[in-house]
Amino acid sequence: MALTGIQILKYLPKTNCKECGFSTCMAFAMKVASGQADIDVCPYIDPKIKEEIAEALAPPIRKVELGGDSYTYFLGGESVLFRHDKRFENPPLIGTFISTNMKNEEISRRIELYKKLQWERVGITLKLDTLFLHDEGSEERFIEIIKKVRNEIPWVALVLASSNVGALKKAIEICNDFKPLLYGVNFQNFEDFVNLSLSTKVPLTIVGKSLDEVCSLSERALQKGLKELVLDPGSQTLRELFEDLVIIRKSAIKSRFKPLGFPVITFPYRYTDSYLLEVLITSMIICKYGSIIILSDLKPEALFNLLIERMNIYTDPQKPMVVEEGIYPINGPDENSLVAITCNFALTYFIVSGEIEASRVPTWLLIKDTEGLSVLTAWAAGKFGADTIAPFVKKCGIEEKVKHRNLIIPGYLAGIKGELEDELPDWEIIVGPREASGIPSFFKKFYEELKRGEKVSEEKKVKEERKISEKIEILKEETVEKEGKSEKKKEESRYKVICIAENINIMSKRIGKAIKERNPQPIQQMAKDGAKLGADYLDLNIGPAKKDAFELAPWIVKIVEEVVDIPISLDTTNPEAMIAGLKASKQPSKALINSITIHKERLNKLAPFAAEVACDVVALLWGEKGLLRDANERADLTVDLVNKLNEYGIPNEKIWVDPVLTPITLDVQQIREVLNFLSILQEITPGVKTIVGLSNVSNGISSHLRPYLNRVMLMMLMKYNLYSAILDIYDKELVEIAKGKHPEWVTLVHKIMDGEKIDIKSLSSKELEIYKTVKVLIGETIFSESWLEI
Ligand code: SF4
Repeated sequence: MALTGIQILKYLPKTNCKECGFSTCMAFAMKVASGQADIDVCPYIDPKIKEEIAEALAPPIRKVELGGDSYTYFLGGESVLFRHDKRFENPPLIGTFISTNMKNEEISRRIELYKKLQWERVGITLKLDTLFLHDEGSEERFIEIIKKVRNEIPWVALVLASSNVGALKKAIEICNDFKPLLYGVNFQNFEDFVNLSLSTKVPLTIVGKSLDEVCSLSERALQKGLKELVLDPGSQTLRELFEDLVIIRKSAIKSRFKPLGFPVITFPYRYTDSYLLEVLITSMIICKYGSIIILSDLKPEALFNLLIERMNIYTDPQKPMVVEEGIYPINGPDENSLVAITCNFALTYFIVSGEIEASRVPTWLLIKDTEGLSVLTAWAAGKFGADTIAPFVKKCGIEEKVKHRNLIIPGYLAGIKGELEDELPDWEIIVGPREASGIPSFFKKFYEELKRGEKVSEEKKVKEERKISEKIEILKEETVEKEGKSEKKKEESRYKVICIAENINIMSKRIGKAIKERNPQPIQQMAKDGAKLGADYLDLNIGPAKKDAFELAPWIVKIVEEVVDIPISLDTTNPEAMIAGLKASKQPSKALINSITIHKERLNKLAPFAAEVACDVVALLWGEKGLLRDANERADLTVDLVNKLNEYGIPNEKIWVDPVLTPITLDVQQIREVLNFLSILQEITPGVKTIVGLSNVSNGISSHLRPYLNRVMLMMLMKYNLYSAILDIYDKELVEIAKGKHPEWVTLVHKIMDGEKIDIKSLSSKELEIYKTVKVLIGETIFSESWLEI
């Protein structure tokens, strides 16, 4: 593994002198670890140690560059054994060979296949990208073929095999700036090939009859100063090939064994005469761990699958896959079929389309480009609101495909129904189910009604739901009042977190409706509840507020401040709405701007305003490309964002860093990364505060189970001195935990996190529930909704 920021920090003087341009040594170390700063910049490190750090930062499988300009290819650069550990970096090059003994017709046939075998998938062109050229003793023909290949298929990276060093020299000259790979260094030709490589800076392939031979040659080449090598282990059988590939990768990554820390070239046809088996072997090599794969021939039916496999294996597992924006027909729709819309996050698409297919209801599914964000995240980021959906519906061409005007939107977007109806006056907006599992029954029922010409009684449904939620609110209020009277004041505890009530949120049906109707009563009631239940701040989430920014934000701030005097956290992605809202506040300096990101349009508007009114700000760690993959990326962005806020005059003490807690269903590793990040945050940017959107962790799971996860997650975050959490203020037990009323539970959670032995038999049922929940949140138990029953 490459060095982390913390490992690099050990070598730094820790004086925080700032001469490197970073505010702390830790901030500098994080930048060095991510490759964005050069270790040389710190003048106080011993040159020998600098060299060691630079060496340690290089990936265990060295990167080798081939080609040039727009056809530059990289081999290797890998740092993990398994794709899910991080990602695989550089996909293997796949192609076939041409030899000087081949007839011209065969050479032309192969070159034509390179041109022909290309496929477009999700905006990516899948094609062959390498060719092995074998000189079997005819220098003239070898050079002639190279010229032809360079001329006709200029994107293809060349592997040149010849025992004639003079021919190779000429070939390299013909390739000019397009760097080929030389094949065939062995004990006999070692000196000649190494000298050629050193003088032309063209990488070399070491060919051994066994791994021992490869190691020995590679060690000698390293001593000669060669850094770009490719290995051919000369495996004799298929089993040996598989073992060699794994041994090479493992030795390089786990043991940092340098002679084997290079990409590998493979020839699957050496192990079989059957093309089908050759394709299967290639499929294995794509996963384990070939960097160049040379096939005996090119057949479209096999190559398409191999290229698709390569594309899938080499996508980043932590970056959302997307599908193209457009209209997707499912179950043979016609002009009377349903129309539904969702986001372009691939997982959402596959789940939703699968459920629609299962329903057998003919449907036009509209996929809106949300940059791979899921429904709610996209809405919160301003990419899936009424103002973006409406133009898409008008332009995408669905109005020509159907006679009716009924559009089904995801249940989670119920809050935008009215706004969308304003934007699409000809359409009736139907709120679909929240969960995809509800699609078949909902679609069947609605399709029948549509066929009968009936309209779904949406209003009736809304009224019923409102009645139920009002009843619940009344019950909650009664419960809270009763319990409040009987509760005795407990001792102050060391575990305390500032509570920011999340409940005034435009996405809640009740609040969304109240906002739409500008009815203050439900909002004021919830604000009063929040104050009574122990909220230190009230989060007022008004979403992107694109349409009525200048009126809505001040209105909600005023009506809340009329009834309570606890500070507000104004929560919107719209900087204009944020500024208008805080200007209307009675106490703007006590408010919290939720949030500022590194994105210029937010940062440049909000940071000067925050500095002027001297309020606190949430620094949301949302990168230019969305969710950050790990603690290092979070640390990296923190350095940038906090520095920028400091430049605007906002001190660290007024910055609340939000590492973006994500749902357990998304990836438990992300939760670990948030915890890792919080453990080092004070070293990077001393004095900053922290905040999390706690309920995110349980987003998407059954509502009766959510509190269990939220509560234990909060206790886990306390281990790293979490300062504040945006949470469900109606969850009494959660608020008690946040107020430090259950230190014994928190201590138990931290013991489990530290790996201390726990005698499960001695735990009470409550403690056992906590124990099981910690285990799923740290990823030791695989999460499913029955985790408490196992
Ligand atoms: Fe100074 Fe930067 Fe070196 Fe730390 S890393 S000692 S802050 S120059």
